[in-house]
Amino acid sequence: MKPISCQEMGELLCDYVSGELAPEQAQQVEQHARICPPCAIFLETYRFAARVGQLLRGDEMPTEVYARIETAVFRCIRIELNPPRPNDDG
Ligand SMILES: [Zn+2]
Repeated sequence: MKPISCQEMGELLCDYVSGELAPEQAQQVEQHARICPPCAIFLETYRFAARVGQLLRGDEMPTEVYARIETAVFRCIRIELNPPRPNDDG
């Protein structure tokens, strides 16, 4: 099975969470999540966000909840793009 990149992962996530991916693509997503911790976190966050969205269907999502999800997702993307370096004093 062809491994997918982090970028492809991001593109497939939405359909994966809503169950619209072909079984083979869904397997690729799961496979990538196993070897790429940032994407695994991203997937969990996305799943959670989708679930919250379903629970609140029709209702307004509380700003605080939304902000929290957004923060988690963006932090995840930042890690993905700029992995922390061990020799960075910060
Ligand atoms: Zn990844």
